[in-house]
Amino acid sequence: MKGAVFQKKGEIIIKDDIKKPKIKKDEVLIKVKNCGICGSDVESYHTGILIPTGLILGHEFSGEIIELGEDVKKWKIGDRVTANPNLPCFKCFWCMRNQENLCKKGDGIGMTSSGAMAEFIKVKAERLHLLPPNVSYEEGALVEPLAIGVYAVQESGIKVGENAVVFGAGTIGLVTIQVLNAIGASDVFVIEPLEFNQKKALEVGASEVFIPKDWTKISGLTNKIGPDHIFDCAGVPKTYIDSLKLIRKGGFITVIGIHAEPFEMVGFTQFLLKNITMRGIFAYNQETFRTCINLLEKKKINIKPLITKRIKLDEVPKAFKTLSDPTNNEVKILVEME
Ligand SMILES: [Zn+2]
Ligand SMILES: [Zn+2]
Repeated sequence: MKGAVFQKKGEIIIKDDIKKPKIKKDEVLIKVKNCGICGSDVESYHTGILIPTGLILGHEFSGEIIELGEDVKKWKIGDRVTANPNLPCFKCFWCMRNQENLCKKGDGIGMTSSGAMAEFIKVKAERLHLLPPNVSYEEGALVEPLAIGVYAVQESGIKVGENAVVFGAGTIGLVTIQVLNAIGASDVFVIEPLEFNQKKALEVGASEVFIPKDWTKISGLTNKIGPDHIFDCAGVPKTYIDSLKLIRKGGFITVIGIHAEPFEMVGFTQFLLKNITMRGIFAYNQETFRTCINLLEKKKINIKPLITKRIKLDEVPKAFKTLSDPTNNEVKILVEME
């Protein structure tokens, strides 16, 4: 079969002689329909450290079940599915506490085991989630990034009627805006440098958007108190520092964006003096996936504005180059398998 393989730092190749996966008793074989390219895939492409050499990429996907392992009873051929790509060990301290997103092993589809940028993928049946008839395969492929936004909003503890600021309007920022609106936030202000992404933020329901240097204007819009919640989906030193300055006393900062570079924590005293609660968010769990599919089924989330390009498998290497330059005006590039 054909697949997009991570060769080495800065190189992704298309192979067409990959062995079709053989399923085990508890697995199913999926004919992949759509697979998204994630920011973390692009990060691995640049750094060469997150994903092992020779691995098929792709953890945001949807497809149709075409083969069942002998122990698989709950699923049938033809079922339309997506899958939670995390592969918890079910044995460690965190798995035992129902926190599989924190599993000690940290295994995942398209991260440590073969991904979905290929014609077929095998998946443990236990990881599958059924797509209702009115949820498309494209939406199915975006359940994974949506789950990050949903989990972050849930864990932030935001209440109906509170306001929020979202730093960064990439894929995760754009889903977070929509989830915040869905749960009844009074206002969702967005800080984003790129004009293309600013427009996307407004399209998905942001109250107002600002360029980074205008963040102080939000203070005026919140009775000079500052916002109740901040969601940092950008993960750069400036968003961390600005968050501490902007948040109201007693407010909440939820960090989703990965701060990849070390930086000096300027203004850390604010953290204490303002009684700020700051928390980090990593991944999601099975329940989050179910919530996301429900939100899509009920049409509470519109993923269409996020998909800026649909490509074929052969175009994957080129797409990684395109995504490497943020000024290329792309949000989510979806690989279509047929
Ligand atoms: Zn992802
Ligand atoms: Zn575990």
